[in-house]
Amino acid sequence: MGKENLFRSLPSVDQVLNEPSLQPLFSDFNRAFITDCVRDVLEQWRKSINEGKTTDVDKARIIEDVLKSIETKNSYNLKRVVNATGIVVHTNLGRSLLPKALEEHMIDIAFHYNTLEYDPEKGERGSRYSHVEQLLKDFLHVEAAMVVNNNAASVLLALSTLAHDKEVVVSRGELIEIGGSFRIPDVMAQSGAVLREVGTTNRTRESDYVDAINENTALLFKAHTSNYRIIGFTEEVSYEKLVNIGQRYNVPVMVDLGSGVLVDLSAYGLAHEPTVQEVVNSGVDIVTFSGDKLLGGPQAGIIVGKKAYIDAMKHNPLTRALRVDKLCLSMLEGVLKIYQQRWPMESIPTLKMMITPLSLLKERAERLKSMLESVEKLECIVIEVSSEAGGGSLPEQGIPSFGLAIKMEGMSAAEISQALRLNKIPIIARIVDENVVMDMRTISDEELGIIVSALQDMSSHL
Ligand SMILES: *Cc1c(COP(=O)(O)O)cnc(C)c1O
Repeated sequence: MGKENLFRSLPSVDQVLNEPSLQPLFSDFNRAFITDCVRDVLEQWRKSINEGKTTDVDKARIIEDVLKSIETKNSYNLKRVVNATGIVVHTNLGRSLLPKALEEHMIDIAFHYNTLEYDPEKGERGSRYSHVEQLLKDFLHVEAAMVVNNNAASVLLALSTLAHDKEVVVSRGELIEIGGSFRIPDVMAQSGAVLREVGTTNRTRESDYVDAINENTALLFKAHTSNYRIIGFTEEVSYEKLVNIGQRYNVPVMVDLGSGVLVDLSAYGLAHEPTVQEVVNSGVDIVTFSGDKLLGGPQAGIIVGKKAYIDAMKHNPLTRALRVDKLCLSMLEGVLKIYQQRWPMESIPTLKMMITPLSLLKERAERLKSMLESVEKLECIVIEVSSEAGGGSLPEQGIPSFGLAIKMEGMSAAEISQALRLNKIPIIARIVDENVVMDMRTISDEELGIIVSALQDMSSHL
């Protein structure tokens, strides 16, 4: 058939829309959306005819294409995945998973009116922040607390409130970039503060801070070097000593702690990461940290410390621009209550995954291996691997773990890994020495079935 005839035999948009088999779609999707999908599909067909790739018009296939196009556009772009990387706080994969115990509460808040800014006792307007402020004060023994959109916002708000047009003293060893384009010098510039670098990359002494202090100094600033370590010939000034200098010269001390862990992980065999409580107890005036790193809560920036400084931040107009929503606040309240009243190591997924015992990880790997036994052309071996905390915490410290190395006959590691990523629920694994490796630390028992069906599917299509 010639091109002209093929074009002529294509159905019109209306003809496709009137197809009986498409009618049920109209109760799920609006007419404009379905019409757009039909137009797109017909356009594809026209293009294909024009390029000589289509030599026959088949209405059944056009309808199939329309259904496929609607399904693709309907599926969520932001969707759940299986994290088989072993990186617990994986920023690209959504960082911390919220505790299951909060599921019902989240739905309650999301789908109903709530007390976000209302005090039912007084019958009047309340504060959005009161829901978590008291909890933070009680649990961390601080004078005041507030919450903003993320920790980058905490640092920006603190600097812009306390050090606008004034100098902030920072060690050259702590002028960090934490990824996602958060660089301390840039945030400093954005806040209007003037960066006063002291010391060298590997060594900064007390006298360096003292010598830099002048009448225009607003803040002594320390950033936790969360995603790297300086080792060898090094020296840094402790929180206590910095507090001491601050008190002597009447300059407040601020620490950007990054991960903000609330439990001492060294009690569980992991490297010591300074806890928020430790830093607060050292006498530091302001501490900022993330809600969704090792704390294991929703995305948030938490600022705690002396009331006078935090009150000033609350009055900064920036606070309104950086404010958190009701879902964040409700989940943060829930997570903080778990810390205060229950068993965080068991019910906060981030912490639970960090300390899952090796024996359990090995058992999980072996169980997955046996579940995969019947899958043809697949070869699996249980291997020792190394997980990571991620989120810029515990840098350089691998956490021993167990994983499953996978090979599929006739497929390269890159091809297997891609096929896993393209699964309906994407499975994100690592490639180590031409093997696809799935670390059991970040995979839950409930997710093993997803991996099994994905590999069964892959094998059956070979
Ligand atoms: C992660 C991190 C931040 C940024 O926190 P977000 O919550 O991602 O905005 C700032 N400072 C340090 C030291 C960090 O580790």
